[in-house]
Amino acid sequence: MAQVMRLFPCIVFCVSVCANVAAAPAPSEAMPQHILDACDERASPFGHYDRAIAHAADDLIAMGVFSEEEFHGVKIGFCGLRAAGGPVATISCARDIILLDSGYAARDQELVRNATLAHEMKHYLQHGEQKSKFGANYCSNDQYVTDKMWMEEEADAFSDDVGELFFTGRGVEIRNECPVAVSVYLEAERPITASDTAPEFTHVGPRSTLALPAFAASKFVSFYAQTTLSDGEKQIWGGPSMPDRRFIDGKAYGLKRTSLSNASRSSGPFQLSLSCQSEHDQPAN
Ligand SMILES: [Zn+2]
Repeated sequence: MAQVMRLFPCIVFCVSVCANVAAAPAPSEAMPQHILDACDERASPFGHYDRAIAHAADDLIAMGVFSEEEFHGVKIGFCGLRAAGGPVATISCARDIILLDSGYAARDQELVRNATLAHEMKHYLQHGEQKSKFGANYCSNDQYVTDKMWMEEEADAFSDDVGELFFTGRGVEIRNECPVAVSVYLEAERPITASDTAPEFTHVGPRSTLALPAFAASKFVSFYAQTTLSDGEKQIWGGPSMPDRRFIDGKAYGLKRTSLSNASRSSGPFQLSLSCQSEHDQPAN
């Protein structure tokens, strides 16, 4: 059966979240092939994921772990893996299909579902890199077998870090690239730590970086910023006064919605970079 030959050697056994599940894991190779084939058939492309999977993908995209584009080529579905004596999740190297155990569909499995999907998506990226290095037949040659060990270790460490991120959130850093100070007010769309204080500006010195006392689960934020003590033209980063405006020290400011960057997929803060476009200071990017 050609389909079996394609799929069978390419399933990576994942131990990423074994500590979090009661059932002892087993390699997917031990599972009846017809079950894996049937689950692969039911897996959906991006835009048509099962609701819980779509939620996990959205969480990972919002956290800056993967881009939406990286999910575009990946089919994902739930499958009764553990009931059939299999692992908690698998990925087909050749076909880029991820299967998660059906137990992860439950509402209270959100955190472990995110970490498990991150683990499998890491394999997807690893496979993509190795295929471009070793050719389209990579998944069925010895190099893939050799690589499994380090890829598993790397994916384990990665999903551990991602799981931690969803506990703590990412910090938020303001990087002021201007030669003058800026005053910044920022609201995270998904704050981990809610603030009950009145809106106030944070001042960031010239050409310096400041960590806000905030942690967020999403790169999407609304903010207002303005230069202060500038001898040139005053620079403002803001939005329309309606509907998103805040009163700070009795004055109304319109907020601008933006998406923050993050240097590392699995750790480190979100960053907001502010560049002044004066003749003294060309934008860094
Ligand atoms: Zn794995």
